[in-house]
Amino acid sequence: MDIRQHIRSIPDFPKPGIQFYDISTLLAHAAAWRATVDQLAEAVRPHKPDLLVGIESRGFLTAAPLALALGVGFIMVRKKGKLPGAVIRHTYDLEYGTDTVEIQADAITPGQRVVVLDDLLATGGTMAAAIHLLRSVGADVRAAAFIVELGFLDGRKNLDVPVTTLVSYDQ
Ligand code: AMP
Repeated sequence: MDIRQHIRSIPDFPKPGIQFYDISTLLAHAAAWRATVDQLAEAVRPHKPDLLVGIESRGFLTAAPLALALGVGFIMVRKKGKLPGAVIRHTYDLEYGTDTVEIQADAITPGQRVVVLDDLLATGGTMAAAIHLLRSVGADVRAAAFIVELGFLDGRKNLDVPVTTLVSYDQ
């Protein structure tokens, strides 16, 4: 199964000059999605996670079925103001302005091994922020995994954990 064939690329979304890699078509194809989850499971299992973490929102789609496949729990890193109860947050710099990610304060027991998932690695800023947040609540972040990598942006260099991706684009 060639996962790449099921990922749609849409030019100039969400703004001119951006090539958007859309996993909707991958999710909609049962066999291709099965293969995606199987390949991620193979890559993530050796890290022996206690929990998988998904980054809002397509990271949820990636991490939740994988957690089921690996027989581990799933927790969410969300944008500001979406999670009920006590939360811990981390604010980080963007090219223009800042953004904030949150986790529920009781989501992690310190020392738990986690692997963090998102659909796509671009600059690595989103994943780096999630890893920072997770470490601030005591998580032992073992790896980051993605379906798609924009290799030309070299986002890996901003991540200090092992990085797994299934498909890489060079432009
Ligand atoms: P970054 O923080 O630069 O690594 O951006 C990664 C986040 O933005 C992920 O949550 C992606 O879903 C989204 N993203 C960034 N660039 C793209 C793109 N070209 N196509 C689809 N999603 C993207």
